[in-house]
Amino acid sequence: MSGLRVGHSELLARGMSLPGLSRRASALSQLPPLGLLTIAATAPPDWQVSLVSDDGVGDESAIAAQIQSHQPDIVAFSCLTPAADRAARISELIRSQPSCRDQVVTVVGGLHATAAPDWCQTRFDVVTCGDGESTLPRVLADFAADRLQHRYRADGSYALAQSPTPRWELLGPEAPPRYTLQTMRGCPWACSFCAASRLLGPARTKSDQQIERELAAIARIRPRPWLELADDNTFASDRDHGPMLDALRRYGARWFTESDWRIALRPDLLRQIAASGCRQILIGLESSVFRYGGMGAKTADWQRMIDAVEAIQSAGIVVNACFIVGADGETPASIERLGDFLETAPMGEVQLTLQTPFPGTSLYDSLQANRRLLPGDFSCYTLFDVVYRPDQMTADELQNAFHELISRVFRDDAQQRRDLIQKSIRAIARRQ
Ligand code: SF4
Repeated sequence: MSGLRVGHSELLARGMSLPGLSRRASALSQLPPLGLLTIAATAPPDWQVSLVSDDGVGDESAIAAQIQSHQPDIVAFSCLTPAADRAARISELIRSQPSCRDQVVTVVGGLHATAAPDWCQTRFDVVTCGDGESTLPRVLADFAADRLQHRYRADGSYALAQSPTPRWELLGPEAPPRYTLQTMRGCPWACSFCAASRLLGPARTKSDQQIERELAAIARIRPRPWLELADDNTFASDRDHGPMLDALRRYGARWFTESDWRIALRPDLLRQIAASGCRQILIGLESSVFRYGGMGAKTADWQRMIDAVEAIQSAGIVVNACFIVGADGETPASIERLGDFLETAPMGEVQLTLQTPFPGTSLYDSLQANRRLLPGDFSCYTLFDVVYRPDQMTADELQNAFHELISRVFRDDAQQRRDLIQKSIRAIARRQ
């Protein structure tokens, strides 16, 4: 269950039509479900696997009927937090069908299931927590032996080096415009807002041979592919990134990933990244008013991070600077100041989201302990909807200030200015 979601009707109406936002929303909606395609490859050969993708907006009964048309024994769901309520309703639709209630088992896994297993347990027959490559084979074996349990947990010791090549053929004959490739799972840091960094276990990397194998599999379907590296922080490990970047270059990949600003301190690495087909790197500058706990060596003052952005772009790599709006200390005036800064800021692209306390993060725990979470279901956890009480203003004031900021930063002429910056950075990359 994929795509970018927005619950607030005003932002949906005026914000998502802005070119900068709709471009990113479209890129996200084109990404294939890497987690499901990977764990599908762990199913023994006597299991027949089909994939049903849900864009998050179609009729839920129609999706349930589409799933049931495959006459499944097991339906495995993978969804992030904002899609969890929808996944649960579809699970209920499948479980409530009188003709097949006894035969169909619904299973949920992924980050949300790992962070909120008790919430999931009442809505799905089976909840799997942690690495799916480790839990799905156990679910299938227990189903076959008629000893299915309600919960399966991976302990984080799964060796990512054993993760199989995703079963791309399940996507059908139409090759998607973008592919995903994971080189690393987790992150050594533990930023307090981050749900991805260590929920599934400690940071682990894939071997160079594995990355080469996955690239070859993708290139057989789509030569010179567009890739989104499904990593949390690609260059945070101490691996030698040379072979991986060389493979990306040899396959003619054009790629996007996420990293932290400290790659600016490694000029050799920057040169290799620029030469390997990197089109853009998302760098979390996070909050302009607040330094989150758990950021480790990524913690730095504002000017140091801006200098890093300039160094990365000077090497021919476009930076998509990612800002979180609404952290403690934020006021309508500080949000306006961020808008002022972005009018002339050097970065080639910008991502703005509201601070969102996903389950499983220390931010969620602390806001919950202080009774600051607003009532509502997980469908509001979109990154564009306020879900907690800010400390310096009301939730409505934050939502309105965020709307104003989005409208300002992603308006046509501001986006065109960033597009020109991107063009000049790509020219640097071509000259190298
Ligand atoms: S550096 Fe990025 S991936 Fe790592 S914990 Fe922080 S936000 Fe998460």
